Amino acid sequence: MSQLSIGFIGLGTMGEPMATRLAQAGLNLTVFDLNEATVDRLVALGAKRADSPASVASQAEIVFASLPTPDVVQKVALGDQGVSSGSKVRIFVDLSTTGPRTAKLVAESLEKNDIVAVDCPVSGGAAGAAKGTLALMASCPKAIYDEVKPILDNLGKLIFCGEAPGLGQTMKLVNNLVSLTALAVSSEALVMGVKAGLDPQIMLDVFNAGSGRNSATADKLPRAVLPRTFDFGFTTGLSLKDTRLCLDEAEAMGVPMPVGSAVRQVLNMTRAAYGDNADFTRIVCLFEQWAGVEVPTRPKP
Ligand code: NAD
Repeated sequence: MSQLSIGFIGLGTMGEPMATRLAQAGLNLTVFDLNEATVDRLVALGAKRADSPASVASQAEIVFASLPTPDVVQKVALGDQGVSSGSKVRIFVDLSTTGPRTAKLVAESLEKNDIVAVDCPVSGGAAGAAKGTLALMASCPKAIYDEVKPILDNLGKLIFCGEAPGLGQTMKLVNNLVSLTALAVSSEALVMGVKAGLDPQIMLDVFNAGSGRNSATADKLPRAVLPRTFDFGFTTGLSLKDTRLCLDEAEAMGVPMPVGSAVRQVLNMTRAAYGDNADFTRIVCLFEQWAGVEVPTRPKP
């Protein structure tokens, strides 16, 4: 596998640990990011530095991207000095969360340059990216899936969602809506229980032994809220982007999502209070303000 040349664009919270795992697996890797410091760390692991997405795509047959928003993905894939002007690339794998419409647009545009697009968003956070325990949901032609699978297996559990472009993105958007809804409702329940006199750790112990268990009670609240570090590793701005993409898609399909709409407003209020870059676990602070209590600090598990 080390002979195959691969590229990685976007070395942020998720991209850096994913690219690090690929470099450590001995893959022949070329990288690009606007942030030189993160590129330097990959170069120290043996990766080659490129000065544009096009340059990555002229050195690599398969190019991966982990970028913040649909606009940035479109610019990096299709814009001036984008992946589409590379001379070597055959496959573009987008690991970002961009929504099905962007995935379809990118796939149709890249097809004109004989590049096959794979939409393969990921779930599992920065910790999952570092440990190689992400959930990866891919849609693309099956033969291409079989080709990229041995590389993506380095990053976690890969699940094939179908051949149509955007199915992986739709899966990711509904997964995140479920996860964000669990965080929002678990946060408001935690604050109500604390105000009533319950110990927050006892509450989590009961949730996790009982029917209230979810990814917030099992992981986000004990790791980032009870220690009051608010450092789970996903921003309010990106959470809001995912929710907006999901609800916009649902609205276009004529599917009402009243619960998701409430979660979107909670995230809007979290952003208004704490800013785009605040960790999304700050949601709990909104409920604390309204209830007039603070969840007492407990050590990290
Ligand atoms: P991030 O903001 O930490 O990283 C994005 C990286 O892209 C940064 O290093 C930035 O410098 C780089 N970048 C921005 N514009 C660029 C450009 N034009 N050319 C090259 N590089 C550019 O974001 P993240 O948290 O790593 O998320 C990346 C994607 O993964 C997003 O789509 C996000 O929704 C998704 N995601 C994030 C998480 C998470 O827990 N953080 C989990 C699952 C999925």
